[in-house]
Amino acid sequence: MRVLVVEDEPAIAAGITAALSASGYQAETAADGEEAWFLGDTENFDLVVLDLGLPKMDGLAVLKRWRSAGRQMPVLILTARGAWPERVEGIDAGADDYLPKPFQIEELMARVRALIRRAAGHASPVITAGPIAVDTRQMRILVDGVATVVSPLEYRLVAYLVHHKGRVVPPGELIEHLYGDDDARDANALEAVITRLRKKLGPEIIETRRGFGYLVAADPE
Ligand code: CA
Repeated sequence: MRVLVVEDEPAIAAGITAALSASGYQAETAADGEEAWFLGDTENFDLVVLDLGLPKMDGLAVLKRWRSAGRQMPVLILTARGAWPERVEGIDAGADDYLPKPFQIEELMARVRALIRRAAGHASPVITAGPIAVDTRQMRILVDGVATVVSPLEYRLVAYLVHHKGRVVPPGELIEHLYGDDDARDANALEAVITRLRKKLGPEIIETRRGFGYLVAADPE
């Protein structure tokens, strides 16, 4: 899961990024509105945490541009306490949730998890696909109810495929979500992780569609 953190105050940005990383998310940052707009317009994120008061272009303008360009990722805006017109404007502009500053990091993380779940169409913090269950609160993978030891990278890979179960995910998209864009891993590195996961979870769970990508099957209707 890739999250873009848009915040011009370095200490706040660092705090959010650290909490996201500790929860297994791939966090990237932008410190001004122009950079944020560009990243959100050209790359795929599962969620954006967007401060409204930003240099170069304010957060509301960034959000409006994304939405008018058809960018649909969930956006959580950070607003000044008591600034209710700002919140109303933000939600009208297409924000999915807001959090007034200053906030507790635990509350931010709870909202992040809820937004990502909702966006993927899952109401429960535990997402299942066949024998696999992904517990997004405890960051655990269970196979037939038994917890399996996986690395943070393996967890992110399984969580992403299960969030998108029933869809063939191209290797490029997986690599982007697992490593971020500044890391030029290749498809061989990805295949090595998949091979390890097949040993841990069973050979049938992650299907390879040669030339297309990887698939975790949706549950039968
Ligand atoms: Ca600010």
